[in-house]
Amino acid sequence: MKYTVLTLFPEQVRSFLETSIIGRAIKSGILSLDTVQIRDFCGNSYGKVDDTMFGGGTGMLMQCEPVYAAWQSVAGSDPEKRPHTIFLSPKGTVFNQQKAMDLAKYPHLVFLCGHYEGIDQRVLDTIVDEEISIGDYVLTGGEIAACVVIDSISRMLPGVLPDASAYENESHMGGVLEAPQYTRPETWREKSVPSVLLSGHHAKIIEWRRLSALYETWQKRPDLLDRQVISASDWEILLEWKEENQKPNFQPNFQP
Ligand code: SAM
Repeated sequence: MKYTVLTLFPEQVRSFLETSIIGRAIKSGILSLDTVQIRDFCGNSYGKVDDTMFGGGTGMLMQCEPVYAAWQSVAGSDPEKRPHTIFLSPKGTVFNQQKAMDLAKYPHLVFLCGHYEGIDQRVLDTIVDEEISIGDYVLTGGEIAACVVIDSISRMLPGVLPDASAYENESHMGGVLEAPQYTRPETWREKSVPSVLLSGHHAKIIEWRRLSALYETWQKRPDLLDRQVISASDWEILLEWKEENQKPNFQPNFQP
């Protein structure tokens, strides 16, 4: 996978993505990250890439030509080889795990980061394939959003995590949240790890995790359950757990 980020702040993108797991994947060549400084394509001696808005309004808008020239330096002139270009924008489709999985199939993704009041619509209409938002709020620039999207795609690429099981059972992968997880010690401040996890009984552990994932989703993101088919026997157990959970000093120590 190759990523190219068009930005006025390449150092912000690089410092984030060249750290930790994604940084190691870049070093080992599993993925590549290029940043393009849009200001290098400003066409003037003082690096100006923005101007005031026609019709009035507060703030500055990034102009068409520097953005277009920066994009063309990456895309070239062959329309057949045009890379998939994403504009990070609060107006875009809200990003989720399914979108990350879909984007992971492209060989090359170009991310365009806006700043100030955004970017002149005419160049967006010319070069952008899709707009992605990372949530219904407004950031000062698209750089953090590009990093979020790149991080989320990259961890699913072969070789970035130890193996696919490291992400396959995580929250949102199967439409539900992950079951609660525990590590040593077995008892911490009188709170014990669910005994089934210490039992060594593989099938029971899998079943506990499946039901706990449903329970966790029901408690924290009930909206996600609208897309799940839950059997009557599963609901019986979930309702029982809910009742148990309301008792004082509840320990998640059930045996499915
Ligand atoms: N005037 C724009 C509007 O109201 O839609 C907001 C511009 S914002 C201050 C500057 C840049 O930050 C945007 O062009 C976009 O690239 C980025 N940005 C802001 N919020 C975002 C979000 N929720 N998701 C993705 N990118 C965002």
